[in-house]
Amino acid sequence: MRSKADSVPIKGFIETSFIDWKGKLSSVIFTGGCNFRCPYCHNSDLVLRHNDLEDIPLSHIKKRLKKFKKWIQYVVITGGEPTIHAGLPDLIEEFKTLGLSVKLDTNGSNPDMLKMLGDSHLIDYIAMDVKGPLDKYSKWCGVEVDTDIIKESIKFIMEGSIDYEFRITVVPFFHKEKDVYEVAKYIKHAKRFYIQEFKPNNTIDPSFMTITPFPPEKVKEIKENVERILSIENNAKAF
Ligand code: SF4
Repeated sequence: MRSKADSVPIKGFIETSFIDWKGKLSSVIFTGGCNFRCPYCHNSDLVLRHNDLEDIPLSHIKKRLKKFKKWIQYVVITGGEPTIHAGLPDLIEEFKTLGLSVKLDTNGSNPDMLKMLGDSHLIDYIAMDVKGPLDKYSKWCGVEVDTDIIKESIKFIMEGSIDYEFRITVVPFFHKEKDVYEVAKYIKHAKRFYIQEFKPNNTIDPSFMTITPFPPEKVKEIKENVERILSIENNAKAF
């Protein structure tokens, strides 16, 4: 019989990664489907064509995780958007039962799910994308978004006891530099705010594939300015 955990469509599995959970060797699970359509998203297959991708059986993943348990104690669940799946808590429980710590990547559109996962002690780390300033959120996400929900997720994460980071992907021409600083000011008391570089590959809006990412020195300058904004308030770090 299929369990609720099996109802979460797993479309990708990386057995070992050093980059998806900073400082940890982790396995990474990709769930299919997302409720946003960020035009710059480079996971367009997972968002738009996930039904065409083969499901990876949870039993296979668990078998591999058990085999590598000596080396891997961390699992990252990313997407797509994992919180759109009602079976997510059951899926995470399967990993917790194996004694693994779990990081969840989210777009922050389901604060109720975040609260439930938090209350059930199912997640150890949350990474939430903040797409841009809240007053233009639909532009960043490609769909209408109730920003009260995004605010609720940010508040829950910042006031809760689960370790976390916020992140923004900076896309030239789409974001203005001041958009990034506006987000930094909004979450100025956050522990961490990472700047992610845009990758012009396989984007939801194909025209974004012609955009050249910011040069490294520009990214460095933006990171320094963000760090300054955060540190003015609470010495938080932007990496
Ligand atoms: S970047 Fe946007 S569209 Fe892509 S998976 Fe994340 S939230 Fe969904």
